[in-house]
Amino acid sequence: MSKKRNNASEEKGTCFMCGREVPAQNLLQGIKGCVCGDCLGYMAENYLSYFKTPDKAGKRFQITNIPKPKEIKEFLDKYVIGQEEAKKFLSVAVYNHYKRVTQDKNLPDSVEIEKSNIIMVGSTGTGKTLLAKTIARLLNVPFTIVDATVLTEAGYVGEDIESILTRLLQVADYDVAAAERGIVFIDEIDKIARKGDNPSITRDVSGEGVQQGLLKLLEGSIVNVPPQGGRKHPDQKMIPVNTQNILYICGGAFDGIERKIAARLNTQVVGFSTSEEQKKIDRDNFLQYISPQDLKSFGLIPEIIGRLPILTYLNPLDRTVLRNILTEPENAIIKQYIYMFKLDGIKLTFDEEVLDFIVDKAIEFKLGARGLRSIVEHIMMDAMYEMPSTDKKTLRITLKYAENRLANANMHTMT
Ligand code: ADP
Repeated sequence: MSKKRNNASEEKGTCFMCGREVPAQNLLQGIKGCVCGDCLGYMAENYLSYFKTPDKAGKRFQITNIPKPKEIKEFLDKYVIGQEEAKKFLSVAVYNHYKRVTQDKNLPDSVEIEKSNIIMVGSTGTGKTLLAKTIARLLNVPFTIVDATVLTEAGYVGEDIESILTRLLQVADYDVAAAERGIVFIDEIDKIARKGDNPSITRDVSGEGVQQGLLKLLEGSIVNVPPQGGRKHPDQKMIPVNTQNILYICGGAFDGIERKIAARLNTQVVGFSTSEEQKKIDRDNFLQYISPQDLKSFGLIPEIIGRLPILTYLNPLDRTVLRNILTEPENAIIKQYIYMFKLDGIKLTFDEEVLDFIVDKAIEFKLGARGLRSIVEHIMMDAMYEMPSTDKKTLRITLKYAENRLANANMHTMT
């Protein structure tokens, strides 16, 4: 029992939920410990809201129809061009996640399905976040995207690692049971890589320390989560969340990892393989050969790598893919502009060569897919300003028009 006796009137005890020491009269004594009035109030509130509004809590995240991996991939195909391998891996992982969380563990022949967290490696702007956001549209489990760059070790400027779960609780409307089977996308995971080979020289508060903290979330454990996020403080009420069934999808650019992959392949090639095998290596895209040991050389600790068993990659975007991104996805940039003008009763068309010109410029300015939108925006700005005030009902964008508009634009603003 955790009660302490100073003198009869000042008797105090420790709440086993929030860990605070409070006067004994504010504690409810249970068999295994005491709970303070604040935590009791909090639990009662959540318990009642959970059971009183089964429609809200139950329906929003009810898993009735589990999409098959092929259906998930077909959905991704509508919005994300290429990246076949990453889409396939994601679809299977999400499908298996559903199977895990809906599994009836009481069946005599049930086998514990381990979760398969994913890590996606690909240069910036190749569609990692887009994949995650698109998956989110399809899901009926809570889903959140968090940025690893804001995380630091407890006690340092930044956010505590547990704030990742705060976000999940928030999207689940604090329905803890729903959050406990949610999916978290951790973006920029490469930014918490160990900074150097010798971490003891300077304190690596946003690197290895954060990875150690993250481990706790990746492996199944009960984590006390501050309901409002930010920094934990002693007077705060915490919500215990079981992370056992939460699926983690991580993404990162891992700038420079190609060199580590190339170095590994070269040693292997020299050591064990024939010149025939050496020729087979596609030197334009080393990422496709990525293996867990490359992540280790980059600075992820082996325990984290072990908790992210599915490793996949995204291809760099070539000219053809960029051209498709402009017009193919369900909400393609060009489709969006045509629709915006249609709302004003104007028929907007683009000459084919304008589309090629936009792609050329995105490549020339090294802007990738992110640049496509800002280039189109610059070309269309004057027309978007003028046209709604005129009686014209058609607008054709020719190469000459596009070149002129872009020549007047300030390229530095296109990032
Ligand atoms: P990352 O997370 O890999 O840095 P994003 O997913 O944020 O990149 O991509 C930036 C933008 O580029 C997206 O919003 C999207 O418009 C476009 N984009 C990138 N890759 C693709 C792709 N494969 N298919 C369609 N659009 C893409």
